[in-house]
Amino acid sequence: MKAAVFYGNKNLKIEDIELPELEKGEILIKVEACGICGTDIHIFNGEEGSAKVSPPVVLGHEFCGTVVKTRSELFSVGDKVSVDPNIYCGVCRFCRSGKPQLCENLTALGVNLNGGFAQYAVVPEK
Ligand SMILES: [Zn+2]
Ligand SMILES: [Zn+2]
Repeated sequence: MKAAVFYGNKNLKIEDIELPELEKGEILIKVEACGICGTDIHIFNGEEGSAKVSPPVVLGHEFCGTVVKTRSELFSVGDKVSVDPNIYCGVCRFCRSGKPQLCENLTALGVNLNGGFAQYAVVPEK
């Protein structure tokens, strides 16, 4: 599939990359739209996103699409979905006190996990 892969400060390339295999609890989305956020611009210019950026990574964290493959019991092929890109650890002091937005171990699709600037994206069901 085609994807916009970020390699670091101002280095973004459109490439063909492997379509990833799904783990249990993940869905594969055919990306229908992906916004370009101010955060994407910051990342492109070498700054951090909501989490530490770890290139090479497919950017794009504001996206939606159609489920085309699933290993989740919560989603079916054909479902239309929008994605919450932030993945909270659920175990740090902030997650446990109901403030996951302050999670100390935040990971995020399109920041340090491959995101939506691609034809397809793998997304955890939660
Ligand atoms: Zn954003
Ligand atoms: Zn946490």
